[in-house]
Amino acid sequence: MRRLKPQLFFLLITLITVDSLAQSEDLARRLFNVHETYREASLTQRRFKQKDILPLISKRQGNAAYHIEKVGESFEGRPIQMIKVGNGKKKVLLWSQMHGDEPTATMASFDMFNFLEGKNDGFDSFRKNLLENTTLYFVPMLNPDGAERYQRRTAQGIDMNRDAAARQTPEAAILKGLVDRLKPDYGFNLHDQLPRYSAGRSPKVATISFLATSYDYELSINAVRERSMQLIVGMNKILQKYIPGQVARYADDHEPRGFGDNVQKWGTTLVLIESGGFVGDPEKQYIRQLNFMAILSALDKIADNSLTKENREEYYNIPENGRWIYDLVVRNATVKQSGKSFTADLGINRSEINYANASKFFYYSKIEDFGDLHPQYGSQEIDATGLTIEKGKVYPTSYRNVSEISKLNALSLLKEGYTYVRLTADSNTRALGLYFTTTPLHILRTGQAAPSGTPGLGNTATFILKKAGKVKYAVINGFVHDLDDFEAEKGQGIIE
Ligand SMILES: [Zn+2]
Repeated sequence: MRRLKPQLFFLLITLITVDSLAQSEDLARRLFNVHETYREASLTQRRFKQKDILPLISKRQGNAAYHIEKVGESFEGRPIQMIKVGNGKKKVLLWSQMHGDEPTATMASFDMFNFLEGKNDGFDSFRKNLLENTTLYFVPMLNPDGAERYQRRTAQGIDMNRDAAARQTPEAAILKGLVDRLKPDYGFNLHDQLPRYSAGRSPKVATISFLATSYDYELSINAVRERSMQLIVGMNKILQKYIPGQVARYADDHEPRGFGDNVQKWGTTLVLIESGGFVGDPEKQYIRQLNFMAILSALDKIADNSLTKENREEYYNIPENGRWIYDLVVRNATVKQSGKSFTADLGINRSEINYANASKFFYYSKIEDFGDLHPQYGSQEIDATGLTIEKGKVYPTSYRNVSEISKLNALSLLKEGYTYVRLTADSNTRALGLYFTTTPLHILRTGQAAPSGTPGLGNTATFILKKAGKVKYAVINGFVHDLDDFEAEKGQGIIE
């Protein structure tokens, strides 16, 4: 028998691979574009609660496409519901928000339900194929008590993703019960991560991170885990078109208490997806769209089994999550201390502080590192070469309330080096504690000492940078104000 020439053989393989990649890229692009049509309009920001999603579930009660089941209650008695859709052989269990402050995939889940209900939009055969070949079990917001407080842990103060073995939280017992009962072929463990991980050692933020969890300390690869690598390889290829260089993967150390690791051990192909950061998208609405696209694309590959065409070795080409990115890096500032002078970089992070029952947040910024930060990056950087860092001065007049302070000309105060304004002893805002103001100033409550010494590690990120004796930048609560190009509404002042 004549053998195919090796060159011809490779050409053939390449053509088949290129063709299936082109197809999945085309599908992904169409899913990306159609997302706006199906975006669940009632979910617009991350701090929604269970009360916001319950009506979205109950309105589907009685819809023949779904089967809705209460699978248990949280520690505080909130119902946890599972939404089943599809009639296929391959069972897929998807759960989100086991960490209460990680809601991106919950939003995307409701977008997916809206999408699955659509028709005559060019996706009818996609839906038919998906729902005939898979049965999807969604558990959105597995930790509703945590979501209520916008915190990671459950009401018991336990991280339920370290409770897969001990199962002392009802939420972990519910998830284990579902895995035992359904014996899903595939599982999607949907999380958010800090928006400050880099993809490898690059300056790019990891927007989506993956993990094909390890079921043992040896990091073995069996057929179950291989499929999760293949699914990730497929999603990575698609995502690179939208967020080039911004996909990462977690180190695959085995975590014997984690659900991802244990579900993989129990025989379900498990994919961990972490929604990270994207500069200019604090409410993660773009990342939500990427979730929608990537998860539906992966489900399609499960439905027609085309995931097996992916090469698992490519999983290791995805860079690991690094942790190198600050919200703001000030480079090469001249620091004067005890009559001596040296150069330092400042790494500043703007942390989110919840208020209004954790339905909103403001930023509170600290100097989290100080010294040589040349291996690290900032999502925002300012070059302070030739600029001297100093603490700002306290304005000599005190005011009774914040609204009086908001009438001051902030720019002229900052130009004179005043970053702090004090509230008087009889001011009525004392009870509020840490709070924010839209005025670009740092307001000190009565009893709050003005900082002393040179700004440095652990301080609130309020200081000035001077060039030739003149204030060039005022940094107030971690937000940079260029005094030659001043926009008062930029950033958030702080009251502490
Ligand atoms: Zn998480």
